[in-house]
Amino acid sequence: MAAHGNVPAGELVNLDIRANQSLKPYNTFGIEVKAAFLVAVHDDIELIQALAWATTNGLRALVIGGGSNLLLTADLSDVLVVRMASRGVRVLAEAGDQVLLEAEAGEPWHPFVLQTLERGLAGLENLSLIPGTVGAAPMQNIGAYGVEIKDVFAGLTALDRDTLQIRDFSAAECAFGYRDSLFKRQPGRWVILRVRFTLSRSAPVHLDYGPVRQRLAEQGIQHPTPTDVSAAICSIRREKLPDPAELGNAGSFFKNPVVTASVLDAIRSEHPDVVAYPQADGLYKLAAGWLIERAGWKGHREGDAGVHRLQSLVLVNHGNASGKQLHALAQRIQDDIQSRFGVVLEMEPNLY
Ligand code: FAD
Ligand code: NAP
Repeated sequence: MAAHGNVPAGELVNLDIRANQSLKPYNTFGIEVKAAFLVAVHDDIELIQALAWATTNGLRALVIGGGSNLLLTADLSDVLVVRMASRGVRVLAEAGDQVLLEAEAGEPWHPFVLQTLERGLAGLENLSLIPGTVGAAPMQNIGAYGVEIKDVFAGLTALDRDTLQIRDFSAAECAFGYRDSLFKRQPGRWVILRVRFTLSRSAPVHLDYGPVRQRLAEQGIQHPTPTDVSAAICSIRREKLPDPAELGNAGSFFKNPVVTASVLDAIRSEHPDVVAYPQADGLYKLAAGWLIERAGWKGHREGDAGVHRLQSLVLVNHGNASGKQLHALAQRIQDDIQSRFGVVLEMEPNLY
């Protein structure tokens, strides 16, 4: 961890802090809750000043990106919500085929991925069409179709809210795990300012997940480029996943549980077709979506809170569900899965 020293006070900027704001446009579940105050920040200085303003006014500060991994369960009546809106992508170094790229936290993730592909850089194609921002991506080490950002991660710069120091983190210091990181385990402490990636002009594509291989084969593509893989993944995701602009959701609501061989055997004795993937450490990853579907929750609806009709891992807001209703539904699903299969499902979105 390299310290950059204290943040310079800088010139006072005029922050556009707005009182009593609906957060409905700022969370992909489309949940109607109010924040006492809301501000967008465009650089480090604005961020520091927003955090200082919150402290001066006796408010907590909640930093968000695109709001695609949030479950908001009540009004944030003593909170300044700080939306990261910093922009910028730059090449820091090039060596042979490798390119070190840095992006500001507020960069929208999918357009950033497309930009890397347009520059001829491979590595992020399997993470295409994930909503949200660059700065939130390390929070849960976003992953899809066999790739996680840790696979191409080169470092990040973050603000320690406890000390107001800015520090660099290496991959090891981020302690990435499955949908997990140091930052997720220390909620609210770090604000990620910018993230660095090592991308390649010649890296092989990752086609481990069956549906990706199958889609490319259907298209007659035998030697897919990273751009082909990105396009195939976008088309699969558009078919399978609800678009938050049309049906509120936060993607997968539960993590896939990782269990021992004896737990898997117990489930397999009653459900021979259980879906399980062996892990390097001798444990097994179960498909949470399969468990939820087998338990009969697929398409279930309680008022406007529901389970998606095509993808059981995704909870949806059919219109005016509250965060509390969605949370209550999630807890009923967790209880049911535990009693049927003896497996604990952990929530993926961040609860506020
Ligand atoms: P937010 O929801 O705004 O914030 C998430 C958390 O990070 C909050 O705790 C917030 O306080 C914190 N945070 C945000 N920005 C910062 C920052 N700069 N510094 C410090 N803390 C910060 N996830 C996957 O891993 N794989 C997928 O394939 C995937 N698919 C999805 C599909 C859909 C349709 C949806 C709706 C979601 C999906 N997600 C997926 C979940 C989500 O998109 C990602 O977790 C994304 O990285 C969240 O980014 P965000 O900017 O929206 O974060
Ligand atoms: P899927 O392809 O139907 O597969 C179901 C589950 O099986 C996935 O959760 C996946 O685990 C696992 N899986 C499938 N093939 C695997 C393989 N070859 N090796 C190891 N595990 C395998 O999944 P899906 O729901 O349509 O999602 C496709 C990908 O996008 C997945 O990687 C998923 O995580 C990601 N995604 C994530 C979110 C989110 O909000 N976090 C939302 C939508 C999609 P993994 O989840 O560990 O990959």
